[in-house]
Amino acid sequence: MNNSHRTPFILLFFTILCGIAVLCGWYWGIETFKSIIPGFISMKVNTALGLITLALSSLSLTKSKSDLYRVIGSLLAIAVLMLAVLTLSQYLFGLNFNIDEFFVTDPEAMRTKWPPGRFAPIAAINFILISIALLLHTYDSSRFVKISQGMIMIAWIASFQALIGYISGNSYSFGSAFYTQIALHTAILFIALTTSILLLWSGEGYFRHLSTQGVAGKVGRRLLFAAVIVPPLINIVQLYGVKVNLIDADFGVLLRVVGMIVCFSWMAMFTGQYLAEVDERRARAEQVKKVRTQELQKALQARDDLLSICSHELRTPISSMKLQTEFVKHQIENGDLKALSPENMAKIIEKSDQQLNRLTKLIEDMLEFSHINSGKFILKKEEFDLNALALNVLETFQTQLKANHCEVILSVDPKNPTMVYWDKRRIEQLLRNLLSNAIKYGSRKPIQINVFKKAEVTCIQVKDQGMGIKSCDFERIFEPYERAISVTKISGLGLGLHISKKIVEAHGGSINVESISDLGSTFTTVIPSKIIGNLGENLVYAG
Ligand code: ADP
Repeated sequence: MNNSHRTPFILLFFTILCGIAVLCGWYWGIETFKSIIPGFISMKVNTALGLITLALSSLSLTKSKSDLYRVIGSLLAIAVLMLAVLTLSQYLFGLNFNIDEFFVTDPEAMRTKWPPGRFAPIAAINFILISIALLLHTYDSSRFVKISQGMIMIAWIASFQALIGYISGNSYSFGSAFYTQIALHTAILFIALTTSILLLWSGEGYFRHLSTQGVAGKVGRRLLFAAVIVPPLINIVQLYGVKVNLIDADFGVLLRVVGMIVCFSWMAMFTGQYLAEVDERRARAEQVKKVRTQELQKALQARDDLLSICSHELRTPISSMKLQTEFVKHQIENGDLKALSPENMAKIIEKSDQQLNRLTKLIEDMLEFSHINSGKFILKKEEFDLNALALNVLETFQTQLKANHCEVILSVDPKNPTMVYWDKRRIEQLLRNLLSNAIKYGSRKPIQINVFKKAEVTCIQVKDQGMGIKSCDFERIFEPYERAISVTKISGLGLGLHISKKIVEAHGGSINVESISDLGSTFTTVIPSKIIGNLGENLVYAG
């Protein structure tokens, strides 16, 4: 339960405790409990009982309670209603039901105008309003909720005006019909009781918006607070000023009018400014939402594109292998063993092997990309000879190079190792990506691979003399799914360079491309020879 939920219950318990204190005051003759300030009007026993009973009734009627509590709450409200109606009819019709001093005799009666022990008519009216409101509220009808809230508000205003009367040293009267003054603590307890009931019902009826956390709730609460506090404060200043002869009565009226105008104008300006800020914030949020929606749409589009590229990329090698298998099956069925000669079979197997390699590369790229995106990219560093690794990689590409009639010049000295402290498997992946691109886009012209050390860094360079890349695409091609060539020309997912870049960056290095259209491209990676971190420690790259 947070503070705002606790407040009504605190107020109700406060009402009950004060009521009990007043009863004790009457029982043991403690004047302070009866009237707080000596000489002031006392709270009557019936008033204290009424207040305690209504507080208990409100507690019983809170919605979370069971039917039994609702019945008890209603009965308590009815009891107070009967007491108040009887008291009021005593005033109206000059009757005496002997209920005023039923519990205790009232020795103070002489000081007041009403009969001994009888609470003020305004207290009776308050009791009637509150008890009927509590009873009406038990019906699940929004109309009754509003009516009951209205009744509680009237009781609240009546009590508040009595309190203001005390604070400003005035006594109020609704003409000659009734003395309306109630005891100071009666006024306070009525305010506590009605406020707690209004708070308990704050999520419904007239106050539905006041309890919300949105703009309506905030503005409503602030305005309500100002409306309750400002006018009485100005009034008190006016009355006090007149009382101590600081200002005369006319100026007092002027002060009140001008004070109200100033305060309410300030409130209007403050609210206007707040609402303007809210409008601005909303406009900004809408802008952000628009951008996010566009990004989302872009991501959805990228996903669809990827799906279509993937299906195209996967289908091509599979169809090719299927055709070859069907061809072999057909030849076997027809008994054409010539077509299945060892040379022809070697060619068929080589082609299938190429398609399988292509499929494997595609799947590896996709897996690697999802690893990078999920942050599971872990570097396992070890010391190894980069020259030897480059030679090994080149070895595995021999078949592909032969098929493409492509030559590779690897400028490394096998006897003079280039030792690095990197993740060997990832660097092999990087070399494969760059070399397979050079073969793919290199127009079958010679490819050069350079591995060399420069101070603290080691560089890998893969040069081809192929179609090249336009300078406007230099950055874009390192982004996922980005390609500088149409799908139909040369197939690819557009992930290889992105993965390569992530590998290099995870090693604390950089990768760049230099290229001239139709003359070729050079991809250069520069990585610290020994990447930062202690031996055996893994560098985790969260993509
Ligand atoms: P993929 O090769 O599967 O398309 P990459 O991420 O490896 O994906 O490459 C992205 C794009 O960069 C390629 O589609 C191609 O347009 C361009 N590219 C990469 N390497 C080269 C190269 N050596 N020569 C020309 N273009 C290249």
